[in-house]
Order: sequence, then structure tokens, then C-alpha cells
Amino acid sequence: MSIWLEQPGKKRIGLMGGTFDPVHYGHLVAAEEARYQFVMEKVIFVPASKPPHKSRKDISTPEQRLEMTKIAVSTNPYFTTSDIEIKRAGLSYTIDTVLAMKQVNPDWEIYFITGADVILDILTWKNIERLLRECYFVAATRPGFHLELIECKLDRLSKEALARIKTIEVPALAISSTNIRQRVREDRPIKYLLPDEVEKFIYQNSLYLTASW
Ligand code: ATP
Ligand code: MG
Repeated sequence: MSIWLEQPGKKRIGLMGGTFDPVHYGHLVAAEEARYQFVMEKVIFVPASKPPHKSRKDISTPEQRLEMTKIAVSTNPYFTTSDIEIKRAGLSYTIDTVLAMKQVNPDWEIYFITGADVILDILTWKNIERLLRECYFVAATRPGFHLELIECKLDRLSKEALARIKTIEVPALAISSTNIRQRVREDRPIKYLLPDEVEKFIYQNSLYLTASW
């Protein structure tokens, strides 16, 4: 059952931004739950070219991250990928991506899907008030997450902006790309944390074997 009402003439599209280094089941579960609850036509995974909030110098190439993301979404007919941020290069700002996508697709109503950790950090984002006028945010929280934390941490936002942040609960998947990279380096298993085909890609391309962060 959807928790969202139809807006006539608009297509609801989810955007899932991230580094995806590598993409894992935490990303996929959050995107699928958001798609289902908000009845989105599709969810587009957008790997960042050079994420402004990450300073690690050794992330895999953008092409490798895009390829892993393509592999991961290939089994879901509602999921797709975009290379818009990778093609743009330089820093990736969500506002630029959302505006560019809406310019080409004026009938899109965009829902930017994030994890709870990211939503608590958005006050530092470029043009956040404008961004929250241009799109909705869907914050995937774990069961037990205190929703008041969002209002409390983001109290500098206008009431209108805050109202455009929706929350959904996803099963608690304590999976992170950081942990997966560390596991590969330590020769520990990563099976069941991400799709088999992505695991294969990581080993075939010898990713994450050296630590430089
Ligand atoms: P890293 O450890 O390198 O930061 P990550 O696992 O957090 O990687 P990102 O590419 O940074 O992955 O995250 C992309 C988006 O997915 C962010 O909005 C993040 O909050 C969300 N996300 C990451 N892991 C999970 C998870 N286990 N469950 C739900 N959402 C997640
Ligand atoms: Mg992260």
C-alpha cells in the first residue's frame, strides 16, 4: 500500500546518490523500499564523480563504480543508473544533478533517497533550501531510529523545507562500503553483503587490496 497520493501529470522518480564503492544490499534495500512506498516509476542510481564530502584519494575509478552499480541494479526492472555526475566530473552537487534532470524531464517529481546518516548532514549541502524546493528527500531510517533527531538536528531549515523530508523504515542492514573494502583487504568474506556478480567484479579487478586511507 502506498503512503503517497498521486500528483496528476507528474512522474515520481527516485534518485539514489552515493559513492557506491562498492554498491551493496543496504543501498538496494533502501531504494526498493522507497520505490514501493512512494510508488515511484523508477529509481536512478547516480554514482558521484568526486563526492564533496569524501576526501579519500584511493576510491575506485568512477567507471568501475558505475559498472558495479549497473551490475547490481540489472535484476530489478525498476532500477537504472545514470552517469550524469561522472560525465560532469569535478565535484558532485545534488542540486546541479536535480536541476539538470528536471530541465530535460520537466514532468519529473524527484525523490532523493538517502540513509539516515546523510540526512542529518544536509545543512552543509550546497543550496539546501533550494534543493528542498526542487525535490523531496526520502530518508531511510532503521527501526528504532529517533525521528525527532531529524527535526532537532535540522532546526535551521524552514518549516516548508523540513516538511519535504519524508522518512521510511528499512530493515536494519549494518552494511557499509567501508566495511566491505576493509573485509576484502583482510581476506574476509563479503558474500551476502552485496550481489554475487558485484563480488565477482571486485575480485576480478583486484579492488580494495591496498589501504591508503
Ligand atoms: P562508505 O562507507 O564509503 O561511506 P556507504 O556504505 O555509506 O559507503 P555511500 O555510497 O556513502 O555508501 O552511500 C550512499 C547512500 O546510501 C547514502 O545516502 C547512505 O546513507 C545510504 N546507505 C549506505 N549504507 C546504507 C545501509 N546499510 N542502509 C541504508 N542506507 C544506506
Ligand atoms: Mg557513506
